[in-house]
Amino acid sequence: MYGAAVAVEDEVSRFHREALVVDLHNDLLTKLVLRGGDLSRRHGAQALYNPLAFDIDVPKLQEGGVDALGCLLFAGMGLMARRRFWKQLEEFERLFEKHPQLVRARSAAELRRAKADGKVALFLGIEGALAVEDDPGALEKLAAAGVRFFGICWNKTNKAGVSSFDKKNGGGLSALGRELVAECNRLGIMVDVSHASKRTFWDLVEASKTPVFSSHSGCEAKKAHPRNLDDEQLRAVAKKGGVVGIIFAANFLGGLFGATVETICDHIEHVVDVAGEDAVALGSDFDGFVPLPRGMRDVRDLPRITQILWRRGFGEARLKKLLGENFLRYFEGFN
Ligand SMILES: [Zn+2]
Repeated sequence: MYGAAVAVEDEVSRFHREALVVDLHNDLLTKLVLRGGDLSRRHGAQALYNPLAFDIDVPKLQEGGVDALGCLLFAGMGLMARRRFWKQLEEFERLFEKHPQLVRARSAAELRRAKADGKVALFLGIEGALAVEDDPGALEKLAAAGVRFFGICWNKTNKAGVSSFDKKNGGGLSALGRELVAECNRLGIMVDVSHASKRTFWDLVEASKTPVFSSHSGCEAKKAHPRNLDDEQLRAVAKKGGVVGIIFAANFLGGLFGATVETICDHIEHVVDVAGEDAVALGSDFDGFVPLPRGMRDVRDLPRITQILWRRGFGEARLKKLLGENFLRYFEGFN
């Protein structure tokens, strides 16, 4: 299953290690709450897809040359969703007690400092309005706890906005959704458009006073999928200075069996082609219960993306942008 190995040359490996590498989206906190586990242990790749296996642990983060991760508080599923949501925040706090290699980052400056100190920075986001839809004041509490980005939607429509998977409902952002966006703007929280329906997307672009971004999406022009963004959407995000983190979910990129690590690079290249090299970033969705493309076993294979794009003629400056500097530039606007 995990064929298509890509040999990473020493020169590229060195470059990747020195570059600031940021991955905007993972669901590690959900997985830790669901199954527990020790991230100081190195977890091997699975022969078959196992949704409960860890894509991320501390040794593999270091192998993958990763400097910062967007960690999501997920509020999307089942009766226990709200309780689990707050447990994820406790899990996040505990990570720093358990693992001295990890450090919390609330700003772009803190993220750069972590890199300089040789640590991996974790910054918090929220996926889905469920945990705050009956209590918009909770957003202020979450901002105080370090939340820096907020995605209104997940796979199901909620009180704040219509999801991209909702075929029956052509609606967009509700009055509550607009209230939450205003609250994000007031608190300096970045607005994440991932999972939003087309109409919700355009409502978010129009309603937010700050540029929006996507923490984990693919390109519709490369693969028709409700979770992918069309070219007009990519350009709209770029025009205001936002970024699009390319997701690594095989089914979004090129089909469950067809996608390889090269396909991730095709989507990255597409954003560069239609929206410019300043608009693209990485948004893996590691530990998000999604099968990864062949050749991307887990986080340790991130340098393979750098290798492939290097071979395709991306220069060092452009590679640095997509690996992390684009997101940092965007994040700096919220400090
Ligand atoms: Zn998601």
